[in-house]
Amino acid sequence: MKIIRSAKQFQKTLERERGRGRTIGFVPTMGALHAGHLALVHEAIKKNDITAVSIFVNPAQFGPNEDFNKYPRVLNQDARLLRRAGVNYLFYPAVEEIYPEGCSFSVKLDSEAGFAKGLCGRFRPGHFEGVATVVAKLFNLSGACRAYFGAKDYQQTVVIRNLVKDLLLPVQIVVRPTVREKDGLAMSSRNRYLNSDERKRAAVIYQALSGLKYCLENPSSSRLNLKVLKKQAVAHLEREGLVVQYFEIVDAETLLPAGELRAQMVAAAACFCGKTRLIDNAIIRIPQKQRTGKTNQR
Ligand code: AMP
Repeated sequence: MKIIRSAKQFQKTLERERGRGRTIGFVPTMGALHAGHLALVHEAIKKNDITAVSIFVNPAQFGPNEDFNKYPRVLNQDARLLRRAGVNYLFYPAVEEIYPEGCSFSVKLDSEAGFAKGLCGRFRPGHFEGVATVVAKLFNLSGACRAYFGAKDYQQTVVIRNLVKDLLLPVQIVVRPTVREKDGLAMSSRNRYLNSDERKRAAVIYQALSGLKYCLENPSSSRLNLKVLKKQAVAHLEREGLVVQYFEIVDAETLLPAGELRAQMVAAAACFCGKTRLIDNAIIRIPQKQRTGKTNQR
């Protein structure tokens, strides 16, 4: 595996690979890699001739009071994992490679875009513009045929699909399922901030989401009111001492609040467990015949 630090060199190297007729699979990350990242990497390796991974803690997607400075940076450990997995190129740029001095342009997101307004978009102003900007730049550098993202960051996947559609970017977006710990906690680089008591309690996020998913997908309980189910889930989280930033049931495509049962919905949550902010979601699929008994959220 070759580690490349220069943006120009990364672009030239992958251009050369494409020139030889090879397909490029690309996995953008912020490092501190775990099995969730590696599942994306394995899928990229399986489906493409060449796999490139980036590790870049993107300052533009962190708010002023967020964890940019303390975000874990463990390059040697990450490089070992990627080399063992069979990755061809690791792109590990300094901030100035991605945001050179005098850089004037960035990706702007319409403040009215429904898919970005709610959920994390509501509590992390500027976050998705930061994500869209860096992802557009990384796509331009990698010239990827396919790029791999995790469903754990569900809203991010919707933002990126819309970015690719609106900017006509020639890349196929592949979204893979969330990889979890044994107790259901979604793997995240931020889990390492949790102390052992917080780590135990954090599993309640998965329990609350999967309990709600079960109630909605189980025909005998599908007439339950969405608002009531949401309240129960929030109470479940709070009983374990988590502070809920948001808990929403939204349409899986528009990410607008689902007032009634839809074919595909997402229950998404952001909670503080101690000082650590964790997010997770559950995709809820309801067959047509079950949707006839409508239920209201508000
Ligand atoms: P990050 O390093 O947190 O920016 O994540 C890089 C990519 O890995 C994103 O597409 C994430 O959605 C994905 N990812 C993070 N955690 C998981 C997980 N537990 N399962 C699957 N994908 C994940």
